[in-house]
Amino acid sequence: MTYDSNNIFARILRGEIPCGKVYEDEFALAFHDINPQAPVHILVIPKGAYVSMNDFSARASEAEIAGLIRALGKVAEMAGVAADGWRALSNVGANGHQEVPHLHFHIFGGRRLGAMIGKADH
Ligand code: 5GP
Repeated sequence: MTYDSNNIFARILRGEIPCGKVYEDEFALAFHDINPQAPVHILVIPKGAYVSMNDFSARASEAEIAGLIRALGKVAEMAGVAADGWRALSNVGANGHQEVPHLHFHIFGGRRLGAMIGKADH
């Protein structure tokens, strides 16, 4: 899948659309999800143009990979969920129910999150 540079997160990265910024560094941007599914629901995205984990794991540099993973840990700490526990989730493609075609990790926390995945729709 080719990268669509007009996807909503690309536009957030370019500053064309506002976001509730939580954290930013050379490699990553983190902001509150517009439709939170838990008391803490933050999205962490790489600054590079990657569609998903398929794309990122194949093409990203070591520095970009380390930068994104370190950002996940920093954001969890900053959001106050590190001690009690949290969940990182990245949806990939159709079966993964990915809606926005720019790699993102969801960070969920602030309550007991329950089972890892629910039943399939069909
Ligand atoms: P996906 O299903 O692709 O893993 O999740 C996409 C997430 O992006 C959803 O949780 C959705 O609420 C969030 N989202 C979609 N558009 C926007 C937006 O414009 N701003 C923010 N902050 N979150 C968004």
